[in-house]
Amino acid sequence: MEKLQQNIEIGLIGGTGSDIALNNLKEIKVYTPFGSPSSTISIGDFKGKNVAYIPRHGQGHIIPPHNINFRANIWALKELGVKFLISPSAVGSLKKEHTKGKFILVDQYIDRTKKREDTFYEGGQLCHISQVNPYCEYLNDIFYQAGKESKLTIQKGGIYVCIEGPRFSTRAESKMFRRWEGDIVGMTTYPEVVLAAEKEICYCCIAMVTDLDVWAGKCPNCGIVEYALRCYKCGSVVDELSVNVPEVLETMTQNAENLKKLLELALEKLDTRRDCSCHHSLKDALL
Ligand SMILES: [Zn+2]
Ligand SMILES: [Zn+2]
Repeated sequence: MEKLQQNIEIGLIGGTGSDIALNNLKEIKVYTPFGSPSSTISIGDFKGKNVAYIPRHGQGHIIPPHNINFRANIWALKELGVKFLISPSAVGSLKKEHTKGKFILVDQYIDRTKKREDTFYEGGQLCHISQVNPYCEYLNDIFYQAGKESKLTIQKGGIYVCIEGPRFSTRAESKMFRRWEGDIVGMTTYPEVVLAAEKEICYCCIAMVTDLDVWAGKCPNCGIVEYALRCYKCGSVVDELSVNVPEVLETMTQNAENLKKLLELALEKLDTRRDCSCHHSLKDALL
């Protein structure tokens, strides 16, 4: 790798619609002990700040969630000097009030993935990283302020149920996630979040609601209700609603401008010299 002249303090792992226009853009290749990141990394300048961008699903959106090399992505960003990592993620809603287009700044997750490499510590040096508050409060705060100033529908805090994918959930699973008080369901925050913690990087997940997953139905009298053959309120026949790929893509496209606005305003506010407790997460974690 060509030696960079300066540290890149801000990382962005994103998908469709989450790119921002970087000045002095260049593409670099980073080699890691864990193989290749999702793609070459775009680095450039944004309003006086250095930003590194990785498309999570690769260039041309070809890597499915369960095959993303999360360790290589996080390792590469750390190598570049990233201290603040921002990660937009398309999610399904598990609650009626989380309507399409809403942004949720995640503060907790439930891990339902099954076969992902989720630690840098494979033996020798042991690490039991805390995940009691896995997402950076400072980043959530500035994104919340930016969202309010941009008049977006945005909520601070929410539980992200991360499933393995690439399939969507069954209705039984989706209803179970609701009983667990999950707010949203997606396929990518885990293990990005914990790997960032192991590398002492501030991490925030900007979840964008694209659909109602598969728990919901539409009653002609009562609107959106939890699906059953008959509405539990009025007894009418309920129409099935269920997420599909065109619906997700359509909402993402509609919401791309809002996400861009949010990213631009929040990055302006981000003080990269700030010390954060996330930067010391290994302090009491190593054995
Ligand atoms: Zn932090
Ligand atoms: Zn009804």
